[in-house]
Amino acid sequence: MERKQGQATRAVHDGVNRQKKLEYAITTPIVQSSTFAFGSTQALTDFMHNKVWGGAPSDRVEYGRYGNPTIMAVERKLAKLEDADDAVLFSSGMAGITTILLASLSSDTHIVMTDDCYRRTRQFCEVFLQRFGVETSVVPMGDYEALEAAIIPKRTRLIISESPTNPYLRVADFARIADIAKTYKIQTMIDSTFGTPINQHPLQYGIDYVTHSATKYLGGHHDLIGGVVLASKDRIAALRGARGVLGGVFSPQEAFLLERGLRTLPLRVARHNENGQQISEYLEQHPKVRKVWYPGLVSHPDHALAVQQMSGFGGVVSFELETDYEGTGRFVDALVLPYIAASFGGVESLVEQPALMSYYEMEPEARAEVGISESLVRFAVGVEDASDIIADLEQALTHI
Ligand SMILES: *Cc1c(COP(=O)(O)O)cnc(C)c1O
Repeated sequence: MERKQGQATRAVHDGVNRQKKLEYAITTPIVQSSTFAFGSTQALTDFMHNKVWGGAPSDRVEYGRYGNPTIMAVERKLAKLEDADDAVLFSSGMAGITTILLASLSSDTHIVMTDDCYRRTRQFCEVFLQRFGVETSVVPMGDYEALEAAIIPKRTRLIISESPTNPYLRVADFARIADIAKTYKIQTMIDSTFGTPINQHPLQYGIDYVTHSATKYLGGHHDLIGGVVLASKDRIAALRGARGVLGGVFSPQEAFLLERGLRTLPLRVARHNENGQQISEYLEQHPKVRKVWYPGLVSHPDHALAVQQMSGFGGVVSFELETDYEGTGRFVDALVLPYIAASFGGVESLVEQPALMSYYEMEPEARAEVGISESLVRFAVGVEDASDIIADLEQALTHI
């Protein structure tokens, strides 16, 4: 049997064409071209014949909405990292998710979704797809009886979940979801952005589509917006076709940045995992911290499942302080290292108060109903030294 290389080796070398034609560069060249030329009418005829009627697989494309050599190299690397048959990149995480939904649903169909899903995904289903006659049922995360009960035989086409979720890092049981879906012949999609291709592999449990916002850990440097979908060859071919129609294409410049980020993904994620664990343990023993949510803590409701399904728990830690809205603001303002910003998964630590950021338009009572307390903090731990982050938290906690 062929020896399988480690994740770090594969992150550096997989997907890359080593026989680069452009001046023998080590990096993948940015092919900044919107269209691609043919040498003759006969060459174009051969290409189109193969494309339309099937034939020898071609290593080229004809127009930038259908593909690009820089982007395709990164798609190959991502497929290898996720152990997927194939991958397709989009202009954002949301472009990937909406393209799956638009490509695989028709009117009078139905979606079952867990309640902790990304708010824009939920909005797309409940507001946009609703207008086209697609209904969505939302079930509590972790309640598999409710999930199965929500299925409408023959109408339900897709089960959508996220794992771990935001902000409480709840973990979905992939095997159980895939099992229920198989019984009713329904497709499944997991938004694995918080999980990364390093810490978990939902496809191995029989999940059909895995999505990532590449904006987060994959890019890892807070400098690009992108999304990727990973699935079987057939499903990705259909999505690539849909992308060519809907137009949510990634750009070659961003693909270069993403490939650069991916080469250090295993190193960065290992550091996020270590930092997340240390910082959540520090916070949990602190008298001014009411509660901490991190799947690596024994106190987390999904700890046992997380240990079974994941090899690390990432860098996002959520916690409630023993104070009110204003006291929480004083704590956040007193922090020196993290930026006050949305997002996570980059090298710099970020901090936010969900009541102020993602849930600002809601009244405090409505926020309480969805379980977002006024003193909740989401800390996206970067790759700095854990001792420095902890020292910063220590001094900021004296300000509440
Ligand atoms: C950020 C995020 C998205 C959306 O990704 P964009 O790249 O911002 O479009 C989707 N799902 C999750 C879990 C996210 O964190």
